[in-house]
Amino acid sequence: MARAFAGMGWEVPRLLDSLAQAPELYFDSISRADVPEWSRGRICLLGDAACGATIGGMGTGTGLVAAYVLAGELARAGGDHRAAFERYEGLVRGYAEGCQRGGDRTGPFLAPGSRTALRLRNGMLNRPALLNWMLREGMKVSSTIALPDYAAELSPSPA
Ligand SMILES: Cc1cc2nc3c(=O)[nH]c(=O)nc-3n(C[C@H](O)[C@H](O)[C@H](O)COP(=O)(O)OP(=O)(O)OC[C@H]3O[C@@H](n4cnc5c(N)ncnc54)[C@H](O)[C@@H]3O)c2cc1C
Repeated sequence: MARAFAGMGWEVPRLLDSLAQAPELYFDSISRADVPEWSRGRICLLGDAACGATIGGMGTGTGLVAAYVLAGELARAGGDHRAAFERYEGLVRGYAEGCQRGGDRTGPFLAPGSRTALRLRNGMLNRPALLNWMLREGMKVSSTIALPDYAAELSPSPA
């Protein structure tokens, strides 16, 4: 790392110096594992484990939506976890994969490989109109699921 980042300004020399004293160092690529099915037996995946949407800005929301649907379907299934897992994946998978799609472009955009691309990225992120556009696009993608109202459906009706 010292070799790769040698000669860079800003806070980089201080960070490289502190690396030598760091008791542990975690260094990894950003990667995603795509799994063919989200459940097996009594095990069911959600969040990044099922459908990591990392660095597309969608991961946390997708995980929360999945948690809401999984909890609702488990409550609805009256103990039949297999039926719940199947309905959960049926409802969420297409939506979560849609949220994933932008992530393939976000990595190279946020961490580009050339100075020109870095300047372009900084210029874009400093323009409120562009940022707002990105947020609006994210909002459109994240609103493409119709969520069941489990609380209304499952609460006991008044006698
Ligand atoms: C650099 C980066 C930037 C991101 N930016 C955004 C963003 O702007 N907006 C957004 O919505 N999302 C963003 N994400 C994605 C978001 O962080 C994840 O999608 C989200 O945290 C997934 O939640 P999760 O609960 O599924 O998994 P995690 O948050 O990863 O939680 C899993 C937990 O399980 C623990 N764990 C792992 N193995 C074990 C074990 N064997 N026993 C016990 N515990 C274990 C881990 O320590 C961890 O605490 C970003 C991700 C990265 C890497």
